[in-house]
Amino acid sequence: MDRIPPELLMRLCRAEGLTHLASLDAPASLDPAGLERMLADGIGDLGWIADERELRLRPTGMLPTARSILCVAWHYDAPHPGGLRRAAYAAGKDYHVLLRPKLGRVGQALNAACGQTWKHRACVDSAPLNERTLARLAGLGWLGKNALLISPEAGSYRLLGFLLTEAPLAALYGGHGEDRCGSCTRCETACPTKALVGGRCLTERCISYLTIEHQGVIPRALAAQFNGWWFGCDICQAVCPWNRFAPPGEDSRLAGIDHEADLLAVTEGSFDSHFAGRAIRRLSWPRFRRNLLVALWSLGRLDEARAIATDGLELVQAQAAELDLLRNASAPRSAGGERC
Ligand code: SF4
Ligand code: SF4
Repeated sequence: MDRIPPELLMRLCRAEGLTHLASLDAPASLDPAGLERMLADGIGDLGWIADERELRLRPTGMLPTARSILCVAWHYDAPHPGGLRRAAYAAGKDYHVLLRPKLGRVGQALNAACGQTWKHRACVDSAPLNERTLARLAGLGWLGKNALLISPEAGSYRLLGFLLTEAPLAALYGGHGEDRCGSCTRCETACPTKALVGGRCLTERCISYLTIEHQGVIPRALAAQFNGWWFGCDICQAVCPWNRFAPPGEDSRLAGIDHEADLLAVTEGSFDSHFAGRAIRRLSWPRFRRNLLVALWSLGRLDEARAIATDGLELVQAQAAELDLLRNASAPRSAGGERC
């Protein structure tokens, strides 16, 4: 069968609200250098990444008969400044749950339009795929010094999705794979925990990792730099000049506001329903409370932090001990990372 023309692919994606896309022939393998560096730097509780090393370097591992890969970028709104802060991508509904079905439907529509029974596999941060590397190869952006995919037109407030497919898609290059960070180092300077070094992100120092993936106690020296972050961190995106004109989010379901009073009022009994359908729910109750405690402490809101320390949760008590919260009345001494 002839290659599927980009116009058809774009039309089917547009029908799902996906307007930023690129496609490429499924590469047999990827350059291992970035992954090897990341593993060597340390991945904390993300041991599964090392276990999946071979698959991550072989994009067709998820679908050995795949001929092409469709890559899409989906915009969300830039962050709002505030006291207790969480990453903007997690403001609304869980994007994994929204984006994957869209890609699945694009696959079905391809089959219907071409009268075929091709197999497809939709991946949205849900499979061992080196997503940013693939998106860069497809030209959806370059990997900035903040380790994120950046487009000169659309910045980096974007979620990525992929469709591995047996369909022979014509290559559609996004046009933006070339590095345009130049001599800028704003993200490295602004990162409060100094996690950005030499164009890469040191996982175990990054607030996003520490608040979302890390299972245990957050070291005091890093916690002191949190400035109120309780789920993820957007600083290295907020300071990036390429985000100055980032377009608004593409789906209102990705938007939302977490009022402080509501967050602090969530109980163990209401946690699941309060965060139903949102990525935050995956934190589980003890890590949610650990994060709130650290965020409040980092803002010097010690009485509120101490109130959380009385939860009786083992993790929260261990975190309170790490911060010396119940004995020491002093607020953390911040090294003064930039606020967004
Ligand atoms: S997300 Fe925050 S902590 Fe992580 S690298 Fe960016 S600025 Fe640093
Ligand atoms: S802040 Fe500067 S160095 Fe960092 S990703 Fe943006 S352009 Fe690149």
